[in-house]
Amino acid sequence: MTRLPTRRAVAAGLLAAAGAGPAWAGACAPDRLGTARILPVGTRGGLQVGLKTYPAALPLGPKEVVLTFDDGPAPGTTPRVLDALACEGVRATFFLIGRNAAAHPALVRRMRDEGHSLACHTWSHPWTMRDLGEAAQIQQVERGFAAISAALGEPDARPGQGGVAPFLRYPGFADTPATNAWAAERDIGVFGCDLWASDWVRMAPDFQLSRMLERLAHAGRGMILLHDIQPQTAAMVPAFLRALKSEGYAVVHMERGSGAAVTVPARAGWSSETEKIIASTRRRRAV
Ligand SMILES: [Zn+2]
Repeated sequence: MTRLPTRRAVAAGLLAAAGAGPAWAGACAPDRLGTARILPVGTRGGLQVGLKTYPAALPLGPKEVVLTFDDGPAPGTTPRVLDALACEGVRATFFLIGRNAAAHPALVRRMRDEGHSLACHTWSHPWTMRDLGEAAQIQQVERGFAAISAALGEPDARPGQGGVAPFLRYPGFADTPATNAWAAERDIGVFGCDLWASDWVRMAPDFQLSRMLERLAHAGRGMILLHDIQPQTAAMVPAFLRALKSEGYAVVHMERGSGAAVTVPARAGWSSETEKIIASTRRRRAV
């Protein structure tokens, strides 16, 4: 009897085939994945989307995914992720930490020049905004947006204007009433996500890839969260994109839209996964 290879063995093969090093034009696969369509996301009056945190999802069809990367840019890993995306003709959304953008402005400009959407992930990534006073919460967001705008050579741009999309994601998805109100007043959308590879936990790239593909097979579609500052993620992204291609997924790219957002309500019985995570992290930190 022939034994079927495990998903992890398949993932290891994909990683080997895609190559773990930086991709370059000569090494790109001829049948690239590409970006299937642009999804303009309107944020007038605010928006809260992403099933891990909010009971609303982006309007995606079966096997459609949106790729988002958090916490960058980082010089050791982000260029490898950008190389892989360029090789496959795939566009993504980067939720940047403001002080990282200030430290590596050339990477921010590269993201913009290669067609990615730039978005804010606060100035310095406090573990939770909820332990800050309201003024400090707002400052984290304002400074985050301002640092990305400055990296783009647009120091006078208001949050969400110019080259930065009006998209905001909180560290650990921990929103606050003050920042949500601030964002809604400025037509800035708040993004959670629908699924993740848990790539903040250390694991081998092939394990991370098999876990990501398994979760995606279960969800069938969705906005995916990865971290371009993680070496294990930079190592798995080329193979992940190849796997999306071979398994028939289509990449949808979010851009600033006009008007109010169009979202799809969560299924009956939905509950926030991130509130449980925030509560358990808080308990762990208290001991
Ligand atoms: Zn983060």
